[in-house]
Amino acid sequence: MALPTGRAQTAPVRIIRPGDRGPEVDDVQQRLTSLGFRIDAYELDGWFGPSTESAVCQFQRRRGIPSDGLVGPDTWGNLVEAGYSLGDRTLYLRYPPSRGDDVAALQGALNALGFEAGKEDGIFGERTDRAVREFQRNVGREADGIVGPETLADIQRLRRPAPGPSRALVREAEALHTMRAPLVGAVIAIDPGHGPEEPGASGPGGTVEAEAAYRLATALADELAARGAKPALLREADSDPPASARTKLANELGAAVCVAVHTNHGDPTAEGATCFYFGTEGTHSPAGMRLAELILASLTSGLDLVDGRIHPLAIAILRETRMPAVQVEPCFITNPHEERLLRDDGFLHRVAAAIAEGIARFLGATQQRAEERPAG
Ligand SMILES: [Zn+2]
Repeated sequence: MALPTGRAQTAPVRIIRPGDRGPEVDDVQQRLTSLGFRIDAYELDGWFGPSTESAVCQFQRRRGIPSDGLVGPDTWGNLVEAGYSLGDRTLYLRYPPSRGDDVAALQGALNALGFEAGKEDGIFGERTDRAVREFQRNVGREADGIVGPETLADIQRLRRPAPGPSRALVREAEALHTMRAPLVGAVIAIDPGHGPEEPGASGPGGTVEAEAAYRLATALADELAARGAKPALLREADSDPPASARTKLANELGAAVCVAVHTNHGDPTAEGATCFYFGTEGTHSPAGMRLAELILASLTSGLDLVDGRIHPLAIAILRETRMPAVQVEPCFITNPHEERLLRDDGFLHRVAAAIAEGIARFLGATQQRAEERPAG
């Protein structure tokens, strides 16, 4: 559904939270109800009451962002993006890139038609631009990269008669396109989670997530370098760059994959290894998911860690990186036993070796498929 033009698209300066009243709350409520979320009538005059909070949490879960019931810049940005449907506006490559569910729908349509728009991240970047121009050339139109009514009509016309290649084929295409490089010589971006300014979770024995993540990241870099790869850390031990700076660096490095390293947190009995890849309720990165599967399999088979499974998530490091990306959380810093493991260099090196093995399998399998592919 299109939002009325002229509505403010800039993020409010402060976080909107339960108990708040006013026009900003009213704006959030209108966006939520237009997306189909239910809010009690007596809250709809701009009061952030329990049903508004519940709607915000449901919206956050659907979008794959942390579900805290607060409307900060991330949630606000997602509310704006969710308001766009394909055809609401003309899309083309611009800076900063257009973001929205219309862009994700365009990427999905192009992928289904066999034009490789890459990760369906809802960000109109250079790869989407190339896929649009390639599509336009194929249907005999001027390849101007502008997605207006004419190009949309061409896409709709081609989608109806033939359903297009299966997800599996698109997945293979994505894998082959992005990951022909083997581990030797491959740039691997490693993001040690958090930093001194926002150190993340901490354990009962005082271990801090930012420091544990950094130690594990350096162990992983050592392991990858020993296998001939070119690891690159996205932050220094004493720095805490914003997520946008980390993703920008990974993209500029042209990394083959990106691995963010964190620890999980919960109640003291929660334990085990978890891996996240880019995904929302509507889409996900098949290559990121495969990388997450391989790393988690390596962690749970090689070490005695409980299988906490893989999960979709739409945080910046997974969404805005152009290469397959995962966030690995090998154990719970809040579990006293696992916190002790995180202080053990031998354990960190076994975890690093398991992650490196998962990456090697991912890149190796991809290379094998590329070589098996018939010429032409
Ligand atoms: Zn963390």
